[in-house]
Amino acid sequence: MVNTGELRDLHSRVYPGSAPRVAVRAPGRVNLIGEHTDYNDGYVLPIAMSQALYVTASPSADGQISVHSTAFGETVDFPADHPGSPSDPAWANYVRGVAVMLIRRGIPLKPCRLAIHSDVPLGAGVSSSAALEVGTALALLAMNERRIEAIPLALLARQAEHEYAHSPCGIMDQFICVLGKTRHALMLDCRSQTYEQIPLPFENTTLVIMNTQVKHAIGSSQYPVRQKQCHEGLAILQRSDPRLIALRDADMDMLLQHRSRMDEVVFRRCRHVITEIARVPQAAEAMKTGDAVTFGRLMFDSHASLKDDYEVSCAELDALVDIARQVPGVYGARMTGGGFGGCVIALVKSDAEQSLRTAVKDKYDMRFEKPAMVYTTTASEGATVVPL
Ligand code: ADP
Ligand code: MG
Repeated sequence: MVNTGELRDLHSRVYPGSAPRVAVRAPGRVNLIGEHTDYNDGYVLPIAMSQALYVTASPSADGQISVHSTAFGETVDFPADHPGSPSDPAWANYVRGVAVMLIRRGIPLKPCRLAIHSDVPLGAGVSSSAALEVGTALALLAMNERRIEAIPLALLARQAEHEYAHSPCGIMDQFICVLGKTRHALMLDCRSQTYEQIPLPFENTTLVIMNTQVKHAIGSSQYPVRQKQCHEGLAILQRSDPRLIALRDADMDMLLQHRSRMDEVVFRRCRHVITEIARVPQAAEAMKTGDAVTFGRLMFDSHASLKDDYEVSCAELDALVDIARQVPGVYGARMTGGGFGGCVIALVKSDAEQSLRTAVKDKYDMRFEKPAMVYTTTASEGATVVPL
């Protein structure tokens, strides 16, 4: 957590002589279970992390919106009344896109200076992009004395990602970023966009994040391939039941009946989606009854399904999950986010955290080029303006 003094200092260092009028905290997120289900109309179960991205803002008089990112060490300007189309550098397009969406909604923007500082790792599957979009949107709204309700805000941020980052993401990242609640997870139905905030009841447990610090390039090309395979499987199921709208509407019996008509790979992709969607309400139930053992088992099952059926894991993620499995006191572990690198999330007995850290150091850091970064997180509040 960055404190407000640090935020003020940072802003004045980036923009000498200018003090921030607004500061916003927008959290990253960890999806506890329900991976690659969102674009199949399924369920997800994320938390907003204690790690967050911060946006500070001060007014300016030069007609521009200036944005500085400490992660990239550069400042980008665009006209406040005409932010323009996506261009280089790519990171600033998330900010530009949000500005365009606000103007499109009839909110004219005054010129201002934004500084972005974040402790959400970039591109690690914990959604730094949604934190950047939502954080920017809240900062610009506050600077222009306007408000947008939580859900329209999340949808606006997602639209910016679709149009300005060309990433056809589902609704999870932006929803949890605005709807996160301390000590709660969010069970989100990606079809109806309805949700339930479920208290995290597991006594004496810790959520441990293990970041592989790798992102295999193949990942970005595989996302549309997986979407296409899901559509292909769905189309085969729809031949016997045209009422099916998404894989969400199918079950394993139905899939098995059509197995012979399906390519083996498409079958396995569908099996992941169908079983993973079914695991989310089971995990939510385990959460409600405080059953960490069942919750953990579902996490391991989810990982196996992502690895074997959906094939979006990688050697680094699998190694971390296997190491975690062997540590007494670890309830469950799985890759989180899109895959091909990024993070593993584990639910562990608090007094087993140190053994897990030691095991990762001994068995993982020796074997792979980059050490895993291990840290803990807690379910935190969604994005808000913070008092300066
Ligand atoms: P994820 O959302 O899982 O972190 P994405 O690829 O969706 O991964 O988004 C990461 C991108 O978001 C970065 O490459 C960068 O363009 C942008 N971004 C995230 N955090 C920051 C930041 N602090 N400063 C500037 N850009 C950022
Ligand atoms: Mg993202």
